[in-house]
Amino acid sequence: MSYTKLFLQAGRDEAVRRFHPWVFSRAIARYDGDLNDGDVVEVYDRKGEYLATGHYHDGSIAVRLFSFAATAGGPVTPDAAYWTKKLTGIRHIRQAIINAETNCYRLVHGEGDGCTGLIIDVYNGVAVLQAHSIGMHRERMVITEALQNVFGNELTAVYDKSSETLPNEYAGTVINSYLFGQTPVPHPVLENGNTFLIDWITGQKTGFFLDQRDNRALLARYAPGKRVLNAFCYSGGFSVYAIQAGATDVHSVDSSQKAIALTNQNVTANFSPETYQHEAIADDVLHYLNHHDEQYDIVILDPPAFAKSLSARHRAVQGYKRLNAEGLKRVAKGGILFTFSCSQVIDRELFYNTIVAAAIEAGRQVRVLHHLSQPADHPVSLFHPEGSYLKGLVLWVE
Ligand code: SAH
Repeated sequence: MSYTKLFLQAGRDEAVRRFHPWVFSRAIARYDGDLNDGDVVEVYDRKGEYLATGHYHDGSIAVRLFSFAATAGGPVTPDAAYWTKKLTGIRHIRQAIINAETNCYRLVHGEGDGCTGLIIDVYNGVAVLQAHSIGMHRERMVITEALQNVFGNELTAVYDKSSETLPNEYAGTVINSYLFGQTPVPHPVLENGNTFLIDWITGQKTGFFLDQRDNRALLARYAPGKRVLNAFCYSGGFSVYAIQAGATDVHSVDSSQKAIALTNQNVTANFSPETYQHEAIADDVLHYLNHHDEQYDIVILDPPAFAKSLSARHRAVQGYKRLNAEGLKRVAKGGILFTFSCSQVIDRELFYNTIVAAAIEAGRQVRVLHHLSQPADHPVSLFHPEGSYLKGLVLWVE
């Protein structure tokens, strides 16, 4: 297979040699022939030395790279054999996460796994794929073939959930559907021994927030005998862990009725009714915090990304500050706040400073117990630090 060759301007090859996963349009000198959105393209330096292969898209990020000369040796053809080798390598490192108690995990985490534009979450035999680029979406059938090669009989279905993650103009032409097999939803998975019922068809993202696995396990260590508020609960991940650990009372809040239904479903899937105290409430979190003066031993704040772009960052910081100030007021003396931000554009330092501002506003003495982040199935390329999106702090509130 021969692909269009794209040549970089002098001096613009350094970032690619350092495995940065994107080529910006301003770095391009020229290309031979035609290039359409989603095409595979080979990237060369000014003198014609091959550097990397990626998917083209007319825009500020013009090429999303998935293979580099330094690791692949030379140009590649992204066919089923290529993806089989790549996914086998990634799956190998995931073995540290998969065990008898955990059968759901992120198999492919975009740039962090050298698969720019591709997310694949595995739910107990079902792979849910989300392409963020047209190029990756075009690879979906060879990737499905590769998944079958990698997993054999363990794979029962592959579902494409890309319609909400692809660029707008293309997303309209895509209908979420099974690419292989079919599995009824909700589908049970195990995470650290807890059962969750996953619905990738109507659920948010691929159906479950796998990125909080380790942080939920940490919550379990603090939860015995505690009154817990799980704000922005989605399908009740933190709530189930808290009840399992012996929390005396758990309140779960989310503005989405569907999320509240999922939370109740997951709680009842794990525990018999007489063994726990749990209430799931459909409400806006700020409204809830302002209208209940109840105190909790542990408060969890895991809001959706408040900022999706740099221009939205300032407003988002104000939002996090206000939310955390209100959240801190609901923490009982000597209690704990688990607080998170999944906004990529709010880095660790800015998040920390925002929490300092919130604590000043709330007038509470606060100590940091843990700095949290995303788990090992959401790796971050050293050369693409933007991939580190999940930040959390566990705070001891006097
Ligand atoms: N903690 C969850 C993931 C949270 S995702 C887990 O471990 O699975 C963010 C959630 O916030 C979504 O379920 C969304 O419905 C909810 N949400 C968004 N805005 C909200 C608001 N203003 N008040 C309450 N919930 C909100």
